[in-house]
Amino acid sequence: RRVSGPEERRLLELLSCGLVVLGLVSGLLLRFIPMPYGRYSSRRFGWPLPARLAWALQELPSLLVPVGLAACGGATSAAWPNRLLLGCFVLHYAHRSLIFPLLIRAGKPTPFFTFVLALLFCAYNGYLQGRSLTNYAKYPSGWLKDPIFITGFIGWLVGMAINIHSDHILRNLRKPGETGYKIPRGGMFEYVSGANFFGEILEWFGFALACCTFESLAFALCTLFILSSRAKQHHEWYLEKFEDYPKCRKIVIPFLY
Ligand code: NDP
Repeated sequence: RRVSGPEERRLLELLSCGLVVLGLVSGLLLRFIPMPYGRYSSRRFGWPLPARLAWALQELPSLLVPVGLAACGGATSAAWPNRLLLGCFVLHYAHRSLIFPLLIRAGKPTPFFTFVLALLFCAYNGYLQGRSLTNYAKYPSGWLKDPIFITGFIGWLVGMAINIHSDHILRNLRKPGETGYKIPRGGMFEYVSGANFFGEILEWFGFALACCTFESLAFALCTLFILSSRAKQHHEWYLEKFEDYPKCRKIVIPFLY
């Protein structure tokens, strides 16, 4: 039996609550066990997959599921605000799954367990955001000119730019063939250790403001909980590893945390 209408609406609400709980629990757990990939990669979490392959495959559902849902059409899929907002989400994941993996320099392998969790997360969230925007989110006429939408959209755009720029800085710390770590400098790294994570958090809160949906807010909160934990681990790792690490740098939110 196909779930639709009010039943699916209820399902999306439950999935959104699930996303917030998942983010909270993961954020707490990750304070004790570092998210096992990158510098904390460990064979205890399964067979290691090459970083490029893992990133490309695990992020792909967040690109393909919303595109598939939009192609099938839905009650709100033809409205311009919905098209634009879905386009923002899809653009991020087109970059994350198709371009970002090709740019990685000597990234550490991803354990199979971490890969599967990321894949499931991207399918879950791809469906949640995709279905919300293609079938349920309704906007008043003139929403694209509304200050709330414009502020959110700018937040999304600036966040994505910071995220991409910060990942670019990190990548260029390594010369071809190097696999070690250096102190990142420049851009938002002058303010926080997790500049790429700050960009991603800003991006999804901007998106949530522009969407004004429970689904997008749940995703932004989940991202905040998970990435602030990872940023805290990186920050402590840098302080321990580098004696000359800038002491005034915050963890992930400039001037605050
Ligand atoms: P990291 O900052 O841990 O690593 C990013 C890349 O830069 C890796 O290839 C890493 O190599 C390299 N790197 C990091 N620090 C240094 C350094 N000091 N010196 C040299 N090289 C370095 O980011 P993640 O891998 O956790 O995340 C990658 C992207 O994915 C980010 O943009 C992040 O925002 C996004 N993301 C989003 C999530 C979400 O919930 N929305 C969840 C997780 C990530 P190595 O692999 O060898 O460590």
